[in-house]
This record gives sequence, C-alpha cells and structure tokens, in this order.
Amino acid sequence: MARGSDRGEIERCTFCEKVRGQVESLIAGPPGIYICNECIEICNSILHEEDRRQGRGGGEDGTDAAPERIPTPREIVDFLDQYVYGQDEAKKVLAVAVHNHYKRVDVAARPWTGEGEPPWHGVELEKSNVLIVGPTGSGKTLLARTLAKMLDVPFAMADATTLTEAGYVGEDVENILLKLLQACDFDVARAQRGIVYVDEIDKVARTTQNVSITRDVSGEGVQQALLKILEGTVANVPPQGGRKHPEQSCIQLDTSGILFVCGGTFSGIEEIIARRIGTASIGFHPPRDLEEAEQEIDERDRLLAHLDTKDLIEFGLIPEFVGRLPVHVRVRGLVADDLVHILTEPKNALVRQYQAFFAMEGHALEFTDEALREVARLAFERGTGVRALRSILEEVLRDLMFALPEYGPPSRTFVITGEMIRNGNAHVLLAGEGDDLRESA
Ligand code: ADP
Repeated sequence: MARGSDRGEIERCTFCEKVRGQVESLIAGPPGIYICNECIEICNSILHEEDRRQGRGGGEDGTDAAPERIPTPREIVDFLDQYVYGQDEAKKVLAVAVHNHYKRVDVAARPWTGEGEPPWHGVELEKSNVLIVGPTGSGKTLLARTLAKMLDVPFAMADATTLTEAGYVGEDVENILLKLLQACDFDVARAQRGIVYVDEIDKVARTTQNVSITRDVSGEGVQQALLKILEGTVANVPPQGGRKHPEQSCIQLDTSGILFVCGGTFSGIEEIIARRIGTASIGFHPPRDLEEAEQEIDERDRLLAHLDTKDLIEFGLIPEFVGRLPVHVRVRGLVADDLVHILTEPKNALVRQYQAFFAMEGHALEFTDEALREVARLAFERGTGVRALRSILEEVLRDLMFALPEYGPPSRTFVITGEMIRNGNAHVLLAGEGDDLRESA
C-alpha cells in the first residue's frame, strides 16, 4: 500500500488514502503513517462488533439495539396515520409484517427465560420482506421512512436501477448496506435492525415477451445479486463504498434482521392480472379528463387487489426473488380529493410548513377551502400528484415570502384564495389590496 512518504510531502490516511483536506482530522503515527477520523470510526465499529460476537459486551443488555417492546400493529398504524394520509389497507398489512419481523428478530436476540423449550421451538420463522406496488408519488417511500421513524431504526433508500450485478459498472448491492451503516454512524448492531427501501424494483424485471418495456439487460442479474441480502446473509460491506478491493477491510453485516421494503409502479401488471383472472381490462389510455383519470385509479386498484406471485413472475421478476418478498402491499393512486387532505392533515403537511414560516415572522397564513381545492385540482392535472403540490404553492407564495421579512408588526393574517391560486400569484396581498388582507387583533 502506498505510504504518505512515498508520495512526497502530501499527508494522507494510510488506510483510505484521503488527504488532509478531505477529512476532519488526520492523526500521525510513525513517520509517513497517518489515520483519519473516518477510518478510526470504522475500526471502532469493527472491534465493537467482534466484541459483541464473542460475548464481550457490546449492547448494554446483551440484546444490542433491541427496544424494550415492539409496538403493536395498531400502534404502528396510529403512528403512520399521523404522517401518511389514506392507504389504510397498506398500513394494516405493513404494520402486521413489521411487527412480526421485529418479533422474529428479537426471538433470536433474547434468550428464552420460561421453563423448558419455548412453545415455538423448532418452528423456523421466515423473513417477511415487503413488496409495495402502486403509482409514483402515492406514499410508498413515505410509508417505509415513517415505519423506520416509528421503530427508531436506521433507514436507507436505494434505487434499483443504479444497482448492478457484481462485476459490472454501477453500484454493488453492498452499497445499500453501507448507506444503512452511514445512517447510524456505523453502529453495526443498529444497522442490523434497520429498514431499507429499494425503489423502482419493477425496472429490474427481465424482459418478457408480454411486457414491452425497454429494460436494462442486467436486470435479472441485479435480482440475483439482491437475493442473498434480502434472504439474510453475513455481507461484507466495503466501508469506503465503491468496488470491493482486496486490501480494504470490510465490515461484516448480518442482514437477517434488516427489513427490506421494495417498491415499484409495475405499470402494465394490471393487464397481466386481468388476463389471468379472466376479466376484461378497461384498457388504460391517457385519460381525457379528471373523472376518467379517477375511474382509472379505481380500476387499477380493483385489479391490483388480485395481485399474485404468478403475475410478478410474468412481469419479469424471477421466482426466487418473488419468494423473498412474501408480503404484498398495494397503494392507491391519489385523486384530487386526497390531495386536499394531504395538503393540511399530516403532521408535516405542506400548509402547516408554510404556516410555520409565516409564524416565524410573526404573521399568519390561511387558505380558503376553495384555494385548497384549486391547488389539489391543478396538482392532479399536472399528473405528478403530491409532488406538484409543493411547486404550485411555492409559485403562488413566492412574492409574498420574498417580502415577508420586511413586514414588521402588527401581525397580519394573509388569506390565500382560489383566485390567487388560479392566477399563480398572491402578490395582491402585498399591496394590501382586496378584502383578503385582514389585520389581526
Ligand atoms: P412514492 O415512493 O410512492 O413514489 P413518495 O412516498 O416518495 O412516493 O411520495 C412523494 C411525496 O408525496 C412525499 O413528499 C410524500 O411526503 C408525499 N406523499 C405521498 N403520498 C402521501 C400520502 N398518502 N400522505 C401524505 N403525503 C404523501
């Protein structure tokens, strides 16, 4: 390995070869030998993990990162309700899967203290990774992220299209695990209970004669590469990311307690389901109007309720891969009415966020019901659903937010109307025009 002294006067970490400017601190050893803070942290977690394996402590109570108690499915749903609007069916299925997943993990981590063998002795509890199917922007990622928040476990997200089978250009699947480690400062015990969301899993389906979507030819290879970590294995994670290379010492991460949630839109799978169950599909064309778009969402949801492993295989997932994702969850496309609720109800609702900014300046912001309906309608028309809500509001509120810090007391209530949304701007409020600018008491 290259030493600092071999490279002239440049001081660099002997382990990762980063130079002084790239890291927070670089500690010097014998002449020409350095170690950076990042490598020290990684070494620490490797030692910590070895200690744990050999029963030399680690987790304070021997159960590592295990919480006192696993929340019940109902508690999980109640928590999800605070952040995710609707998708009731999906929340229920997810809550049960997640509750059972952590029960299974804890059974392995906690010794049985009752008499004799535990009643479930000899029963092998299989891993229950989750597949979420549904249109873009309907809350798949949000559900997975919120679950991690509820359970206080690290969360990482990856895009399946950036992954490649080993040996090809792109990201190795182990990099997903690296992201999880990074999300908890390389606390291996915590990472081993984390949640990983793999998006766009439908894009790594292999091409079949039935679905004519141009796909990455290595799609099947990516599924193969994911199989092992999904099932549960001790993976070698290169701590610096990138390609594994021999001189790099790897962090060993047991993936059997990691919950994998894979999500995808699977567009076209409705036709496969319709064919299998012998229903005529209405045929999905670009909808002409909002009503037709809403009907189409209903129709897709009705068909997806019949989703079966056979359909996923016909779509192009390999049977072994489908086998590792035994829990199927479907999320519904969101219609304009849903968007109105999403604007105001969840804890992080956009309207609440903007109201917080106004409150920080000592003012208040309100929206008329018509204004909320208009924002939702416009967003639905743009076809990107929830994602469009934000850009519409940004546009409307831009001038107002620009001038807001210059508005001193007395505090004011700015009321946004439907007309302002249609005009794409609420600047009339700045001039103090119209009846909508009310001075608060
Ligand atoms: P997906 O993963 O299905 O493509 P995301 O979960 O990334 O969609 O959602 C995109 C954005 O929309 C996020 O900012 C999320 O907060 C918001 N969003 C989507 N669905 C919902 C929902 N049901 N309730 C509240 N917010 C939602």
